Amino acid sequence: MSFAANESVHVRAPGKINVYLGVGGRHDDGYHALATVFQAVSLYEDVIARHADGFSLTVSGVEDPDAVPLDDRNLAMRAAKLLAAAAEYPGGVALEIRKSVPVAGGMGGGSADAAAALVACDALWGTGFPQARLHDLASRLGADVPFALHGGTAVGTGRGDQLNPALARGRFDWVLVMSEQGLSTPVVYGRLDALRDEEGALADDPPLSLDVPIPVLQALRSGDPELLAESLHNDLQAAAVFERPDLAETLRLGIRAGALHGIVSGSGPTVALLCSGPESAQEVQSVLRESGLDPLHVHGPVPGARII
Ligand code: ATP
Repeated sequence: MSFAANESVHVRAPGKINVYLGVGGRHDDGYHALATVFQAVSLYEDVIARHADGFSLTVSGVEDPDAVPLDDRNLAMRAAKLLAAAAEYPGGVALEIRKSVPVAGGMGGGSADAAAALVACDALWGTGFPQARLHDLASRLGADVPFALHGGTAVGTGRGDQLNPALARGRFDWVLVMSEQGLSTPVVYGRLDALRDEEGALADDPPLSLDVPIPVLQALRSGDPELLAESLHNDLQAAAVFERPDLAETLRLGIRAGALHGIVSGSGPTVALLCSGPESAQEVQSVLRESGLDPLHVHGPVPGARII
């Protein structure tokens, strides 16, 4: 292995929407069984890696600087150190993260940073790891990190980390409504467990292995947003709305504004509204703006972490 002398490497990685998210029972290790479809969308994190003796990190683009840790709790920092250990790289890196994906927004921003840091450090250091090796390191960092490397549209099973590409034709237009205040993923899963406990004996135990329903995959293959709108589903939505009742109103407003359907992305609180095309998305965006919201029009699928 030879260590190259690039001055700096700039990598861009996308945020994601969970077009479908089925949550099964909880394994003994605390993780829930998942069956999900991720779609990478055109809202990106930028990570710039520069040579340094030690490891350091700066973050810009966030309203609240305390929301993102700058130490080893940061997924990008952990990614860089994991790669350095695996490659036996003797130096360090100065990472600069420019965030656009909302923090704790259910769009996998931290996972995108980790994927971008892996790709950036691999190129900066000339590590030359094959994609499969980077994928393996990514899955050790977090369930959503392999997808941020991969991009496009993919099915995640197991804990969401067993990835298989899904065929998706064409482009889907989404209007995102983000929140200033994030939602903690563990809190939302905890709320789901509590809601399920309340249902108690009325409900069957959630399964420990589950699949994405066929109609979701057929809708993606068709490229028809109307079909996909019928298949959007998120088992975490009720729990996210319990924590943040205003999200129900945002979903209602979006559909009234002309979106085909809406969903809370992942553990929320970002709301993703699927539109029939770019013009409709612009229309939905302007109606929501009049209601005082700050919507953003994005499209998917887009590629995963890439050097630019
Ligand atoms: P999840 O992948 O769990 O759905 P999310 O998309 O809701 O996460 P993120 O912004 O990825 O949320 O991060 C959630 C928490 O992880 C943050 O509140 C923060 O404390 C921590 N964190 C670690 N690394 C990062 C990072 N690079 N960017 C943002 N948050 C990070």
